[in-house]
Amino acid sequence: MPAQKTQAIVIRAFTLQESHKIITFYTPDFGKVKVMAYGVKSPKSKLSGSLELLNHGMLLFNYRENKDLQSLTGFDLIEGFDGIRTDFARITYGCYLAELVDAIASEGDANPEVFELLRNTYYFLADTADVPLLVRVFEIKFLDLAGYAPQLSQCANCGSIVAPSPLQNSQNPVLVMLFSVRLGGLLCGMCQHRDASAFSIAPGSCELLKNLRKSELGKLNRIRASERNHRELKLILGSFIQYHTERSLKSLKFIESVLEA
Ligand SMILES: [Zn+2]
Repeated sequence: MPAQKTQAIVIRAFTLQESHKIITFYTPDFGKVKVMAYGVKSPKSKLSGSLELLNHGMLLFNYRENKDLQSLTGFDLIEGFDGIRTDFARITYGCYLAELVDAIASEGDANPEVFELLRNTYYFLADTADVPLLVRVFEIKFLDLAGYAPQLSQCANCGSIVAPSPLQNSQNPVLVMLFSVRLGGLLCGMCQHRDASAFSIAPGSCELLKNLRKSELGKLNRIRASERNHRELKLILGSFIQYHTERSLKSLKFIESVLEA
């Protein structure tokens, strides 16, 4: 039963029988780690308070292969992100990112870059001006790292270079880009009939998404997104995520009903 020590972020906390908790951490070295924390809700527990959702710390546990629940031996808090917790919108989006990682990442599957992305996003979430834009950056980078990268330069169906095109069977001559969730990205004019449910978005929204994919989290304050850009990126990324997680995320529903109502 080798003792392990790794950085970790609490991405899920589930209370069991009043005083115990099942905690899911995301770690750079082990991917998701699920532990049983006995008696942790008791005020006498030395872990009481440190296992809150989003907390970043040093996790100590005994690793047992093929076990669903690992045995927790300690968690030393590094950062509690108070700047996120004191702002209702920021903490709500923070919980959504945790739920998203929990939904897509698999246990025991190490992806240090996903850990770094989550941790860095939480550090910037406390004081970024455009919170939804930071969330969109997280989503596109996370999809890329998780192996679901949407195709934004070439046609997802035939591989040819995609240019803005007029919608078929439409009186409206405005040029758009077509994004197919099912086929995995943009469609060229020849392939737009392949998915009747593809979304049409402004070419500018598509350019913005390509920029966000490469952008550093600390430089977002230089990027301006219009209301339309926000709406379209949320729509295509949200639909893409839902398609790949095969579930609708609870916190996303909450964001839609409370923060965006
Ligand atoms: Zn094509």
